[in-house]
Amino acid sequence: MIEFLIVGSGFTAATLCFHLLEAGIQTNSINIVGPTKLGYGNAFNCMNDDYRLNVRSEIMWIDPNNKLEFTNWAKKNIIDEEASHEAGNFYKRSDFGRFVHSKINKLIEKGKLLHKKEIVQKIYKDKSGYWASSLDDNTKIFSKNIILATGNPTPKWPFALDKATITNNKNLVENPWNGNWIKLIHKTDNILLMGSGLTSLDCIASLKSIDHKGEIHVVSPSGKFPPANSKWERKKIPIWPYENNNRILPSNFLNFIKNYLPFKPVESSEWQSAWEELRQNINDNWKKLPDKGKLSLKNKLNSTWSRYRYRASPQSIRDLIEFQKNQQLIIHKGKAKNIIQNRNKIILTIGDRKSINVDKIINCSGKGEDKLSKQIIKSKIGFSDIFNETLEVDDKFRVLRIGGKPNKGLYMISPNLSSKFGDIVAANSLATQSINLASILSSS
Ligand SMILES: Cc1cc2nc3c(=O)[nH]c(=O)nc-3n(C[C@H](O)[C@H](O)[C@H](O)COP(=O)(O)OP(=O)(O)OC[C@H]3O[C@@H](n4cnc5c(N)ncnc54)[C@H](O)[C@@H]3O)c2cc1C
Repeated sequence: MIEFLIVGSGFTAATLCFHLLEAGIQTNSINIVGPTKLGYGNAFNCMNDDYRLNVRSEIMWIDPNNKLEFTNWAKKNIIDEEASHEAGNFYKRSDFGRFVHSKINKLIEKGKLLHKKEIVQKIYKDKSGYWASSLDDNTKIFSKNIILATGNPTPKWPFALDKATITNNKNLVENPWNGNWIKLIHKTDNILLMGSGLTSLDCIASLKSIDHKGEIHVVSPSGKFPPANSKWERKKIPIWPYENNNRILPSNFLNFIKNYLPFKPVESSEWQSAWEELRQNINDNWKKLPDKGKLSLKNKLNSTWSRYRYRASPQSIRDLIEFQKNQQLIIHKGKAKNIIQNRNKIILTIGDRKSINVDKIINCSGKGEDKLSKQIIKSKIGFSDIFNETLEVDDKFRVLRIGGKPNKGLYMISPNLSSKFGDIVAANSLATQSINLASILSSS
């Protein structure tokens, strides 16, 4: 039986581990289970050199008291002439993964910290009173506490594929996050990217690196890409109205944001500076919204919010503009509905009328489904959050049972806890969650 089992091996798992050790927890009290090298996860386990961080290096911190740690590490350990831009340094995601891994790797190599590269299939409360986790190598780990750090589930097609009609799956890329798909592409292939967010821009940067000559079709409901990051700066902290109120109406929330933003292009540093100022205390106000209000704001704003939240690396926007100039990039506004195959061609249908014939389709429609959370919900250990994205937790990250009682020893920290905590997808927000949870765990 061990004290702490961390499920997941991404940035969140690594930073939690780091902050638990900083808080005085012993290495032999912690086990980690997750398929990638610790710190890489789904976000940074990409060996594709064209996938870059979408924010400048100073934002990518593990410890708020040492925000320049990655920037300084990069100067010593990375040769990447393309990283530099007037908006900051935008390094390769794989290099960031290497940095995070380097913080904890020695303990794993020396055998002081146990990391099993497996998947947890199921968790349950054992008769002994401890948590039991079944792994896909048929072993079990018993622990006093489990911390779920399962992050962004890998992408799945957003509709059911008719497998019987599709014989050549090599032309369909369901998960482009690791970047290996580029090896399958011929220079003259006509490609279709389903989605126009950051993953789509990663794919465009990758296609640019092979000097792609074929057509690139992009299908998305908004038909819009995120803007490039500019050189923004936070100069003040916005003072929200109703500071002493416990409740905020969605209309007040939205109006305050609208009124705070200047009438400038979203690409400008003035607009982005104001936007980043807003993000400093937006979550305190988000928490005051009623559940219904959170849901209606999500339905209305989700796609716009995702576009503006991070913005993109300037390098990927440069590649996008070049393809646009060459008239290779064709945007189709609409929702992808189905994929069918006709001989060697694959066809994507949009709505009821439109269809596009291409050689390859790449799914850039976002994250998939967390199977472990589903199992936890199915076995009634937890229940779904109001956005139906993940588990419901309380302020102390404890996974709640139906009725609202917290499970003893079962925690979750995750970029998906937005219904509870707000705008928390960024790496530095996850580092903050890790610090808070490490403090709770080390003092209980
Ligand atoms: C493609 C992509 C790029 C991103 N780029 C940036 C960026 O540039 N800057 C930024 O600030 N943020 C970025 N983000 C946001 C991201 O949410 C965070 O930065 C952070 O990396 C998330 O880390 P995580 O460990 O929570 O999740 P993940 O990176 O998703 O890692 C979760 C890990 O848990 C594992 N896992 C899942 N289920 C199980 C299970 N049952 N058993 C064992 N292991 C399991 C997964 O396989 C994975 O290895 C990006 C996100 C994605 C998806």
